[in-house]
Amino acid sequence: QDKNRALTLEVDQRRALQEDLSASFAKERMLRQEQQYFLHMVSHEFRTPLAVIDRAAEMIGMLLSAPGAPVLTRIAAIRDAVRRLVILIDTFLSMERLDEGALRLEPLDMPAMIDEVRRHFAEHDAMARIVLHHQPDAVTTIEGDRTMLHTVLVNLVDNALKYSPAEEPVTLSLSTVGDRVTLRVEDNGIGIPRREVASVGTRFFRASNARAISGTGLGLYTARRLAETHGGQLSVDSDIGQGTRITLSLPKQQKAV
Ligand code: ADP
Repeated sequence: QDKNRALTLEVDQRRALQEDLSASFAKERMLRQEQQYFLHMVSHEFRTPLAVIDRAAEMIGMLLSAPGAPVLTRIAAIRDAVRRLVILIDTFLSMERLDEGALRLEPLDMPAMIDEVRRHFAEHDAMARIVLHHQPDAVTTIEGDRTMLHTVLVNLVDNALKYSPAEEPVTLSLSTVGDRVTLRVEDNGIGIPRREVASVGTRFFRASNARAISGTGLGLYTARRLAETHGGQLSVDSDIGQGTRITLSLPKQQKAV
């Protein structure tokens, strides 16, 4: 009888432990959902006031458009900061889409997408630095998710601008190789130490020579994952003082699931 009682106790204890465990899993899941919801809300809520700030700064800039007015430099700095925040928010929102898993596929004309990216940098002197080379016979329409690929391109171009001197051009070369489209983004900036290149695209990676420039180490991580979700890849060629070449390769068609 004692043995039986001991067994019943053990079963009860196990059941209690299992209940505790599933309650804490449920709590954790709820917390994660709340966290995601919060991030989503905050990201969206940030966008509206940022657009207001940007428009106001643009207006003030136009009113004071006496060339060389020192205040114009400050206004350009405000607009630059706003643009950086918008890129970060879009990166967060695309990461969220990655977690959802589904791609919203549509035919995308890559030169038009690149033009859209250039417009993102319009009004910031940066736009004039972006030069596009287009292989003349390239068939550059691909099937992809517009929001996700926009995030990839904006992050690649933003890095090339951010990590190179203000006057240097950033060259984008678009070509087709077989059933893939490749876009090479090239700059003459600070480069990435060769022994650190393999870490590019891992979460929170920031190169040892980039510490003085602000960043999160999330842009290329997200860009790599977004590219891979499309069956594509990012490859990096760089070294200190040698500039950086990042190549995005994407299949023209997505494989049917
Ligand atoms: P960050 O927000 O720090 O710019 P990214 O994820 O976009 O983060 O890039 C990761 C790191 O890779 C950067 O911190 C920087 O060290 C390096 N990097 C990325 N692109 C370039 C580039 N074009 N030139 C030099 N370094 C770069």
